Amino acid sequence: TAPASTATLGDQFARALPEMAMAWQAEEAPEPRLLVLNERLAGEFGLDVDWLREGEGLRLLVGGHVPEGAAPVAQAYAGHQFGNYSPRLGDGRALLLGELVHADGGLRDLHLKGSGRTPFARGGDGLAAVGPMLREYVVSEAMHALGIPTTRSLAVVATGRPVRRETVLPGAVLARTASSHLRVGSFQYARATDDVDLLRRLADHAIDRHHPAAAGAEGRHLALFEAVVAAQAALVARWMLVGFVHGVMNTDNMTISGETIDYGPCAFLDAFDPATVYSSIDHGGRYAFGNQPAVAQWNLARLAEALLPLLSDDQEQGVELAVEALGAFREHFESAWSAGMRAKLGLPDGVDAAALVDDLLTLLRENHVDHTSFYRRLGSAARGDAEPAREVFLDLAGIDGWLARWRALGPDAAVMDRVNPVYIPRNHLVEEALAAATDGDQGPLDRLLEAVTAPYDERPGLERYAAPAPEDFGAYRTFC
Ligand code: AMP
Ligand code: MG
Ligand code: MG
Repeated sequence: TAPASTATLGDQFARALPEMAMAWQAEEAPEPRLLVLNERLAGEFGLDVDWLREGEGLRLLVGGHVPEGAAPVAQAYAGHQFGNYSPRLGDGRALLLGELVHADGGLRDLHLKGSGRTPFARGGDGLAAVGPMLREYVVSEAMHALGIPTTRSLAVVATGRPVRRETVLPGAVLARTASSHLRVGSFQYARATDDVDLLRRLADHAIDRHHPAAAGAEGRHLALFEAVVAAQAALVARWMLVGFVHGVMNTDNMTISGETIDYGPCAFLDAFDPATVYSSIDHGGRYAFGNQPAVAQWNLARLAEALLPLLSDDQEQGVELAVEALGAFREHFESAWSAGMRAKLGLPDGVDAAALVDDLLTLLRENHVDHTSFYRRLGSAARGDAEPAREVFLDLAGIDGWLARWRALGPDAAVMDRVNPVYIPRNHLVEEALAAATDGDQGPLDRLLEAVTAPYDERPGLERYAAPAPEDFGAYRTFC
């Protein structure tokens, strides 16, 4: 079938959970201008890319055109932000336009960020600047290319509306797609209403959309919780393997689907160090790289509390079931993490590499070794040339001893090259691309996207995209 010069949007969420869906319209963008369009993703929804580039289609991407039958809503949710509970967060500057049907037959939310104030905006202006929206575009598409579950980015459109931050910046709207926008905070919101019917409808909606295997289970809501625990444990393990720091793992930024969501002050590690924090607002290091598994589990405990009325009629028994299910997080995480580390080191499934991995991480941290490029250097060592790996260590005796133990296990370089990326959206490259794009030069962004959307495939001409930040880049800080 020919691509459609319209978008057909469902309103499944709004109809199933009207208490959590506030009908709302985007603010008109004075002068929409397309900055980047994900043509491939548009194709997966059967959307016509020429239609999306101008006129009505372009206005869809900023919320100005609402296709017939669509019912845009701002979603309500609650959440713990840096540990403090807020009963009413919700989409302050975002809108769910509705659900699209993907080529795989499943539904995806089409969602706008930066589309104007909603009743959930509190003190915020409802807007987003070009830089942060392009950052989400680049990083989410890089994550997808790395094989990590994530929301996808469809387009960034400059609005022609200025946004006041520390300085005046050009405004933009990000159009993204997601399996859904159900969050831990969505359940906290439903629970706080004391309306158990709403909570049950939300849980059943989540089962339907994300974890259908739970539907047949005897205690289906416990099975839902177990499935979310498993999905988030697997997700965070993937983050840890690529050195991703989310930066703001509040409960409203953790999905029920297990997709990465809300790329704000996120960044990838340069030198390996579990204590790494990039976010300018994370003063206590709550969301430091190495804390992410523990934080995910803490957030899941908040989900368990929200689900409690559905787990058992007997509260004590409900708590017991939840605690046991939450306990499985560690096992899920450890098994995904150790399987992933074995693959990064090119080692066969059977071997117990726990001590080898621990010792490597200590060496990487003590020698300030760049996380991403180290594993490609190690690939050379698996092919017989250890020099690229050795040369990034000051402690040569330490790395030589480690290499000898690793080599004895028979590493396979081909396996390593399939799982160790060459190109990630390095902080200095992201900053360079966003600054240029904000000034109207799209070139650096296009080249960065070219590199990070095929991250395992080393190509000539892209050397600078594989290299760590130059020394003079200094300590990196992210703002949201
Ligand atoms: P975030 O930290 O981006 O996940 O957002 C946390 C909450 O603040 C959500 O309820 C957002 O909708 C809201 N928010 C963030 N920025 C703005 C803004 N500029 N205007 C209105 N609401 C915002
Ligand atoms: Mg958020
Ligand atoms: Mg944000």
